[in-house]
Amino acid sequence: MSSMDDLIEISGSIENKYVKEWKEQGKKVIGYSCASVPKELLYAAGLLPFRVRALGSGETTTADAYLSRFNCSFCRSCLELGLGSEYDFLDGIVMPNGCDHMRRMFENWRYIKKPPLAHPLMVPHIVTENFISFFIDDLNILKEKIESHFGVSITDDRLRESIGVYNKVGGKLRKLYELRERDKPALTGAEAMSVIIAESSIPPNKYLGFLSDLLKERENNKISGYRARLMLGGSALDDVELVRAMEDVGGLIVTDSLCFGARAFWDAPDDADALAGDYLNRVYKEDYNASVKQDPMDALARKYLNRLTCPRMFGEYSKRIDFIKSAAERANVDGVILEHIKFCDLHGVDNTKLRIDLEKAGIPVLLLELEYGARSDIGRLRTRIQAFLERTGR
Ligand code: SF4
Repeated sequence: MSSMDDLIEISGSIENKYVKEWKEQGKKVIGYSCASVPKELLYAAGLLPFRVRALGSGETTTADAYLSRFNCSFCRSCLELGLGSEYDFLDGIVMPNGCDHMRRMFENWRYIKKPPLAHPLMVPHIVTENFISFFIDDLNILKEKIESHFGVSITDDRLRESIGVYNKVGGKLRKLYELRERDKPALTGAEAMSVIIAESSIPPNKYLGFLSDLLKERENNKISGYRARLMLGGSALDDVELVRAMEDVGGLIVTDSLCFGARAFWDAPDDADALAGDYLNRVYKEDYNASVKQDPMDALARKYLNRLTCPRMFGEYSKRIDFIKSAAERANVDGVILEHIKFCDLHGVDNTKLRIDLEKAGIPVLLLELEYGARSDIGRLRTRIQAFLERTGR
């Protein structure tokens, strides 16, 4: 099996053989539900961070009893699996106030399932020095809770080491995106999503091995015969089959701004081996150098609050549209597909404004409203994308 086959297999199920191996060694797994959770802190505690997703959830009958159908179907689908037995391998959950839907998902999961450890992480919506300190305080509360619950010690060195490991992962993913965005792309959008999903489902050192092999495997791979180069952005989307259906119509998704995509790692350093220090110095003020050496938790908080974020962050619209414009130019796309899950106000409103501004910049945009996991929707989506490809002139 090639590394791509391995990564597709890992992304194709919830619990995978590497999680089982980890558990068999007596080690613990913590579920987290959003790209804004600093998984480096969990890994520094010797825990495996596992991103909760909704693969294969189908009907949400149980979840709907707690989260009304006017809630995001991604969150309802995750809760459906959480209230079932799918996530029974988790030894705890850490979920942020990503949005109200996610907050309610966490509260119902905690109330009904009573996981051994459950922490609602308070991620600020605004980036100021005060809010960075607030976030650091909350990360330290989580740190102390993990240390006392699992009887471990999260030292500064272990945290620096963990930051370094995930920066290596991010650096290699940046390289993979270069292969993906070049004139003759080396992998499809569906494959890229599988690779990213696998990142949050297995131990990072194991993942680094797969990524290194994958970069070699795909170096000379050249995809052709597609009609248009597309970028995908919007709500939480981990549905590889849906992306494959989008590509079956003739458009190849050569880059993205998804949280199961670029938003999960984009701030990583160019040089994959650079530890947090240098990179953070470059991005942050001079005086930050001292704090990095003295306080990796400060570094982590600043890294997560200053990264490419989602519309939950106030006052950061320009950052999001600049990212999309630069990615669209870098990957030479013919159009952008912006999707939002029904009732996801954050991305619904943001996509509407993004479309206006991107169209003004001469970039064709297709807005899609999705119902998470609804296979019945594929036909309608295909028709919309086919019409859009016509519009791009391809
Ligand atoms: S897709 Fe929207 S509503 Fe759903 S979890 Fe993400 S931000 Fe919240």
